Amino acid sequence: MALIDEEHITNEDAFQRACASLVGGVNSPVRSFAAVGGVPFFVAGGHGSYLTDVEGRRYLDYIQSYGAIIHGHGNPVVLSALTEAARQGTTFGAPTLGEVELAEMIQQKVSGVDLVRLTSSGTEATMTALRLARGVTNRSKIVKFEGCYHGHSDALLAASGSGVASLGLPASVGVAPNAVADTIVVPYNELPPIDETVAAVIVEPVAANMGLVPAQSGFLQELRSLTEQSGALLIFDEVITGFRVAEGGASALYGVTPDLWCFGKIIGGGLPVGAVAGPHHLMNHLAPTGSVYQAGTLSGNPLATAAGSAALRLLNTASYRMLTGRAEQLAFGLTKVIEEADLAVQVQRVESLLGIFFADEPVTNYRQAVASVERGIYPYFFHAMLKRGIALAPGPYEVLFPGLAHSVDDVDKTIDVASAAAAEAR
Ligand code: PLP
Repeated sequence: MALIDEEHITNEDAFQRACASLVGGVNSPVRSFAAVGGVPFFVAGGHGSYLTDVEGRRYLDYIQSYGAIIHGHGNPVVLSALTEAARQGTTFGAPTLGEVELAEMIQQKVSGVDLVRLTSSGTEATMTALRLARGVTNRSKIVKFEGCYHGHSDALLAASGSGVASLGLPASVGVAPNAVADTIVVPYNELPPIDETVAAVIVEPVAANMGLVPAQSGFLQELRSLTEQSGALLIFDEVITGFRVAEGGASALYGVTPDLWCFGKIIGGGLPVGAVAGPHHLMNHLAPTGSVYQAGTLSGNPLATAAGSAALRLLNTASYRMLTGRAEQLAFGLTKVIEEADLAVQVQRVESLLGIFFADEPVTNYRQAVASVERGIYPYFFHAMLKRGIALAPGPYEVLFPGLAHSVDDVDKTIDVASAAAAEAR
């Protein structure tokens, strides 16, 4: 029985009720307000660039489900593909043409991808990519970069930015030392030593889980040649950047072809999904053609593939021009009004991804990101924006996801609000 009158529910009521059945009231720590203080708003629905909470308040949304949404909430084309698919059944445990269609679209858009394995999350995709790399190379060590988040599998939960960093944790308790014994963590934008024991180097080609930190000129190219020389595989974790920073993702944007890609978010059109992709000679090591085992009851789920294919089909050159245009307008305006409020700010941007650092100098690695967050301005700025109807992520290490539903007016409104919010946060 509902304990709360749904018609008059407040966010506070909803949170209390949630805490009685969900750990910390949420199903993913990044949704909690632990890093910024206060109680999360509970979403009743989303439309385009806006969310509405259970109290009926509207927010211009820059979270966009942490990048799973690019066309705005409730895009009619995506919704209709989804409902049409649901009418045929929700899951079968047998192959469907919907999975093939999504894989073909990934192949067509990302140069170098021959084969795809769909999973149900980005975490599964990166976990599978590591196992595949180890299986192919017969080596154990993995190199990852500080502040890059690759999901919550044991081997990759080391200096992983995002929610772990927002909660002030160095790493997760419960990860056995031997699970990370082969994980070498190195600073972002620095070239690591890679010897013949390294199976793979995994990297976010644009780091988007420690705020937004662009790869410096030549970094990805150098990683490509170092890995080639040592026989390690280069894995691009494009769970965020894939189909967002360019139609062919970050590998197309930077002209660097990794050995394996991990995708997620956008390719599910707002439903749970992930993918590992790469050339035949590597991907065929996965079962059933090879002996690297990986599986999933709901992998390639018909609803997720229908929504994902619809979302990808809608993306074209004009979409990326528009996305980048909006993000440029936003970054320029935010920088101007925050500086006018006498706060040191770096609004860092790669195409349509952007992040706000309260810092004097551009941030190029995780340590600098942490130093900027430790200035403690973000929680004030966040709440000053939220109470004026602009929803940023409730964690200082996340990025903003302006999407195709954000209008010029939305961005202008955001900049106006940021002007007042910055003055208040100072
Ligand atoms: N990789 C990156 C770059 C991510 O940002 C995320 C999630 O935010 C993941 C992997 C994990 O994806 P999921 O949350 O779907 O498991």
